[in-house]
Amino acid sequence: MTSSRTSSKTVRSLLALGLGVAAAAFGAAAPASAQPEPVAAPHAGYTGSAREAADSKAFFDAVLKSVAEQRAENPSLKAVTVYYNASQAPSFRSQISSSTSIWNSSVSNVKLASTTGTGNFSYREGNDSRGSYASTDGHGRGYVFLDYAQNQQYDSVRVTAHETGHVLGLPDHYSGPCSELMSGGGPGTSCTNRYPNATERSRVNQLWANGLAKALAKVNQDR
Ligand SMILES: [Zn+2]
Repeated sequence: MTSSRTSSKTVRSLLALGLGVAAAAFGAAAPASAQPEPVAAPHAGYTGSAREAADSKAFFDAVLKSVAEQRAENPSLKAVTVYYNASQAPSFRSQISSSTSIWNSSVSNVKLASTTGTGNFSYREGNDSRGSYASTDGHGRGYVFLDYAQNQQYDSVRVTAHETGHVLGLPDHYSGPCSELMSGGGPGTSCTNRYPNATERSRVNQLWANGLAKALAKVNQDR
């Protein structure tokens, strides 16, 4: 439901802010608006190469855009909650629940919550030779894909928490140690660490504190 008091100008302002935050998060040299729309659905995998950094940024842009729209519709909301729909990933119900608990106990400025509605992103499951990844569906909606085979090979909660890290704005860092969540499959199948390290937690908190505080101020200013 869109409030009649929410102008399209407000939404555009929020989106511009959001994209600026995303560019800062991924260290992009060029403004996000100067980059062309991706043609194929981008993905940031659990294992892969650094070239996928742009893909995880595109995914985060989609999530942030959705959160900004949600907040523009109800600007009085103080807490930043990112909603997910897990109905298309029934086999991973417990892993998704664990990932949510891990992130909600690790960061304070953004929270994850389940919804049966559309949500800001969704989880899906299936078989894909690319493994698990965070992607966009071509209509600007973000989703986390969980691959059956890869989740047998690697610690499944770590895979889920890693992909959810992209939702919160973290890029891949495959060369990192097992103590980093965003090193993904880099440290190998024996790595079972399911928690973000202090640097990763701090990065998420800073990202959501700055971005959404500014977004909220902008909403109040435009009213
Ligand atoms: Zn990844």
